[in-house]
Amino acid sequence: MVVDAQHGRMVMIEVAAVSVLTDNYVWLIHNSESGETAAVDPSVADPVLEAVATRGWRLTQILNTHWHPDHTGGNQGIQAATGAPITAPAEAERVSTVDRIVREGDRVTVAGAEAVVWDIPAHTAGHIAYYFEDERMIFVGDTMFAMGCGRLFEGTAQEMFANLQRIAALPADVRIYCGHEYTLANARFAAHAEPGNADVARRLEQAAEMRGRGEITLPTTVAEERATNPFVRASDSEEFARLRSAKDSFR
Ligand SMILES: [Zn+2]
Repeated sequence: MVVDAQHGRMVMIEVAAVSVLTDNYVWLIHNSESGETAAVDPSVADPVLEAVATRGWRLTQILNTHWHPDHTGGNQGIQAATGAPITAPAEAERVSTVDRIVREGDRVTVAGAEAVVWDIPAHTAGHIAYYFEDERMIFVGDTMFAMGCGRLFEGTAQEMFANLQRIAALPADVRIYCGHEYTLANARFAAHAEPGNADVARRLEQAAEMRGRGEITLPTTVAEERATNPFVRASDSEEFARLRSAKDSFR
């Protein structure tokens, strides 16, 4: 809950997760006053439409962070069912229609709240994030994961390292909403990379317990990632690159 300075009223924002495919999360950003709901990175249409209907919400907007089909596959089906406009980086036009193309510095009104767009290329060349400064939350797609980061499909280690440093420089209490449930596997790698880090050991244990109960481990926070994410904690892009290749082959 935050005060909307312009209108002097409270904007009530709630975020819910829809688990789809193997390990994707579609995030629903909901305004409990207006009923408006945005779906971030809808992999598929029907489970998202059902999740919104079950809650009695109204799907009014679609946001994408990057073009990958497991983040855009539900765009057309949701738009056909609801008429919701699609906001996305230009690269999403490869796989979907887009109503509004956004890039670094653009502002997007989402369910009555305001997000600023960040260009964070590396996982894909046109990957973006949506940062809600007032609500203290950021949607980072496949750039950062809890205790991990995305693979470098269309960018460099330098770019990804800079993205992670930028996210980690946000206020400590900012909640980070990631595109996948990778926490436990990432925690195992983090424990291997930083065997002496007590915060990592604690979080590995916690993630194992939560996943054992079938619970969602996200969102994470800037504070948690600074303490436990080896990719964020790397001292430079060379160390980051070494960790990224080690993780690619870690079992
Ligand atoms: Zn992806």
